[in-house]
Amino acid sequence: MIDQFCIFELGGTVLWSRNFVEVKGDPISVLIRSVLLEDRLSVPELTIQNYTLRWTLDNQRGLIFVVIFQRQLPPPYATDLLQLVRDHFSRVEIPDANALDPSADFDHFSPTFDHLLDKAERRASNSANSALKSTTNRSAPTRKQKPKAEKQPVSNDAKTQNGTLEGGHDSDETTLSPEEVIKRNREAFLSRSRGGRRSGAGGASRGKAKSNAMDVKPTESAPRKKTMRPGNKKSEADVAVLDFSEGKPTDDVVDEEEMEKMRQQYIVSDRNTAYDDILNSDDEDEESDDDDSDDAAADSQAASGLVHFFKGLAGLRSLTRADLKPVMDQFRDDLIGKNVAQDIADKLIESVITSLEGKTMESMTSIKTMVRKALDEALTRILTPRQSTDILAEINARKRKGRPYVIAYCGVNGVGKSTSLAKTCFYLLNHGHKVMIAACDTFRAGAVEQLRTHVKCLGRGVELFDRGYGKDAAAVAADAIRRAKELNYDVVLVDTAGRMQDNKPLMRALSKLVEVNRPDRLFFVGEALVGNDAVDQLTKFNAALTDHQISGSPRLIDGIVLTKFDTIDDKVGAAVSMVYTTGQPIVFIGIGQTYMDLRKLNTRSLVKALLK
Ligand code: GDP
Repeated sequence: MIDQFCIFELGGTVLWSRNFVEVKGDPISVLIRSVLLEDRLSVPELTIQNYTLRWTLDNQRGLIFVVIFQRQLPPPYATDLLQLVRDHFSRVEIPDANALDPSADFDHFSPTFDHLLDKAERRASNSANSALKSTTNRSAPTRKQKPKAEKQPVSNDAKTQNGTLEGGHDSDETTLSPEEVIKRNREAFLSRSRGGRRSGAGGASRGKAKSNAMDVKPTESAPRKKTMRPGNKKSEADVAVLDFSEGKPTDDVVDEEEMEKMRQQYIVSDRNTAYDDILNSDDEDEESDDDDSDDAAADSQAASGLVHFFKGLAGLRSLTRADLKPVMDQFRDDLIGKNVAQDIADKLIESVITSLEGKTMESMTSIKTMVRKALDEALTRILTPRQSTDILAEINARKRKGRPYVIAYCGVNGVGKSTSLAKTCFYLLNHGHKVMIAACDTFRAGAVEQLRTHVKCLGRGVELFDRGYGKDAAAVAADAIRRAKELNYDVVLVDTAGRMQDNKPLMRALSKLVEVNRPDRLFFVGEALVGNDAVDQLTKFNAALTDHQISGSPRLIDGIVLTKFDTIDDKVGAAVSMVYTTGQPIVFIGIGQTYMDLRKLNTRSLVKALLK
């Protein structure tokens, strides 16, 4: 089984990589530093601690294909797999050798790789099977002949020596008397002993020790003598290899030794011992290594250009804006496609380019992966609230002070203010809080009735405070808070009239409500659906609140409720735009029309959706 397969390109980018199991350490970096940078490319294999790395190059395209496996378990298909993948890349993925795009996405190659791996495995297993068959066929006569020989002391070889092999074996056998057979066997044995069939004390002494078993011994040697027939042109060495009678190692053992020899040959032993040092080596070490190799004329002679190439892989190459641009452009388009406002996507991308430019390329990491990681971090940073969004904790803390906690809702018409307020009420009731709803939309006909219906539906623990229509909303809110305090309500939820961000009289009225009552939280309710419009609304609401409050420290929006998340599929970008613009957290998201459809924002999921 293989542990890892990876494909690098000339610019130092990992085009594609697959880990089958976790690979400890960073053998690829060691490969690059200890073999590729030192131009030991003629070595096709390297063993590092428990891993063996085998590779093949496509110099035309500047590609290297590497397979990593456990040194104790070399998969028989590793080399074949390397060839198959290389051939596929040159034929299908990059048919034009000059058209390699380092930023290209090779994710689609994964199923093809599975297919090629399967093919290589099957081919290895087929050839193992046929090798096994031929071994079985070869050894079968030997095994069969032993018992036969015991019954029939006259061997084929004995007959061959007598020139009577072809045909007539059985008839010959039957025509000889037992004495004649014994006599012939003895002659055959003596002739072999005289001829010094094989050198070696072991063989001679064994032959002597068993000389009294001459009825059996000649039969045992019979098949080997067959290989010495004149028609079978085997050399002495071939015959020695084929002769198993002297307890020579079996085929398997020989292969194992051979393999071990090869392993030793391919181990760069000086590097193996300093595996960790290599990983931690700094630039100074690299330079001194280079200096040391000055004398090696072969180095310059072998400078195949690939040394520069691999410097990009070894964590020595810095990222440039040109490297990043194509990948970043793609990410920017994706973010805009997910409803992130264009100017915010531009700013975000620019800041990520700045953070990555000049950074050393991580080995085993593609530019795309590095960019994705940096963007992920940037988005997570943006979306992670700087202050607590734990409303329940704040309410509990306020309870001890004997004053209700006040949340006011603002936003344009129809975005879901009343619904979100009712959902929050349901949430608080479920956490054991008593809630008063202040009907401060004294402007829109039907607004009070809508809240009354909600209160009825929500049941015990909630009360509506209203003064009808046409009243000063700020005064109604103040009365509601006072009343709630008298009645020991824990929370007051203040509903306000929907208004367009440019409507000055209404924005002034909202500013007054906020300034007079100083709610603990002023939530802006916006639709995830309209995305960038919501950013404009929020910005202008804040501007108006600043303009119309007289106090030196105006209360501004300090929380966002983003509604209708259930209708936007993966176009979740408005959340980023709103938080980026205001720096305020998304406290809740609405994911449907029922009271239960209120959630806290899961930053991880949102970032994942944005980068999918
Ligand atoms: P308001 O004018 O801002 O108070 O808006 P409403 O609370 O009256 O809501 C307007 C419409 O949006 C209603 O039909 C709500 O059911 C619906 N709505 C509110 N929040 C959500 C939500 O999270 N998902 C969906 N699908 N609809 C919502």
